[in-house]
Formats: sequence, structure tokens, C-alpha cells
Amino acid sequence: MRILVIEDEQKVADALKEGLTNEGYIADIAYSGEEGFYLLSTRSYDLLLLDLMLPGRDGLEILKTIRQKGMNFPVLILTARDTVEDRVVGLDSGADDYLIKPFAFPELLARIRVLLRRGRNEQSLRLVLANLEMDLVTRKVKRGEQNITLTVREFDLLEYLLRHQGQIVSREMLARDVWRETNRATPLDNLIDVHIARLRRKIDDPFPKKLIHTIRGVGFILSEEAP
Ligand code: CA
Repeated sequence: MRILVIEDEQKVADALKEGLTNEGYIADIAYSGEEGFYLLSTRSYDLLLLDLMLPGRDGLEILKTIRQKGMNFPVLILTARDTVEDRVVGLDSGADDYLIKPFAFPELLARIRVLLRRGRNEQSLRLVLANLEMDLVTRKVKRGEQNITLTVREFDLLEYLLRHQGQIVSREMLARDVWRETNRATPLDNLIDVHIARLRRKIDDPFPKKLIHTIRGVGFILSEEAP
């Protein structure tokens, strides 16, 4: 999941980047609306964290322009303004949620998760990378024209990798989010490796282009290009 942060206060922006990165998100920072627009035009994002008080074009103008251009990813406003009127204006301009500064980081994470989940329910019932396709409704997986049969655990694992495609996924993240074990231990690491190996056999081995890559000592990445 890739998040863009438009925030002119360097300290706040850096703290956000660090916190989000630790959670496994890819976070890009723009210190002005112009920088933000540039990044939005060159990459696709799953969510935008938008500060309202910015030099030059302020956050609300940016938000209106984004919505006018038809970009429909969730936007969470970060604002020091705390009047009912400001909140209403923000939500009317196309924001999905807002948080008043200063805020507790865990609360921000919780709001982000809700927005990302909501976005997912609306649009992504299909996950795709190159010619690999996963249909979350029928639970069918295909690579090109070939159907691939996965166990429940393999399916969950591949779904997680697809949702985090292009991102490094650590064994710790897999233990927590796919196996739902908070106590990570060596036997679980081994089990994760076994499942990755089985998944590779099914989705990669029969095809010339490999999608699952190992990052030694760190984890895995699902992407078209080897990292
Ligand atoms: Ca600001």
C-alpha cells in the first residue's frame, strides 16, 4: 500500500514517514501542493494524508482539484483547525476523514486501516500483477490462461503478497497478518518458508517470468521486476 503525505512541516512529515514505513506502508512525502501534484501524476497511491495549512495552494484547494480530476483514493485530512465549520468544509470538499493535530499515531493508523479497507470493499474484488489474477469472490487464481489451485493458506498468503505488491513483506508481517501469530518463532519462520516455496512451485515455476523474489535476511517481494 502506497501512501502520499502532503505536509510542509518537515518534523511532522519525517515522523509520519518513519511511522508509516515501520508499519509496512510505502510513504512518499511532498512538502507542498505542487510537489504533491507531481507525485500524484507519476505514481498511483492508495491513500493521501493531507495537511490543510500549506504554503501556496492550501489543502482544500488541492483536495478539490484532486476530486475534479476524478482521483478517488481515500483522503484523510490532518489539520490544526478545529472548528465545526472547517471540518464540514473539509468533508464537503471530498475528504473521507480528518484528524485534529496533535494526534496519537495509533489513532492515525486505525483510521488509515478503516479507509483502506473501505476502498478495497468498493473496488478490488480482483487483485492483479502481470498475468497473475486473483478473484476474491470466486477465489479463483489464474496465471495467463492457466488455473491454479491453492490451499486456503496459500490463497491467503498470495492475497497478502498481492495487496503489498512492490513492497518488501517481512516474515514478521506474514506471521502477524496471515498466520495471526504475534509470538514469532523459528518454527513459524520455517513454516512460512515452506508455504512460500509451495506457492512458488505453483505460480512461478511453470512460467518464465518469476514474480516472487526473496530479499535475503529481510523477507519477500512480489513484483514483475527482480529487486
Ligand atoms: Ca502545515
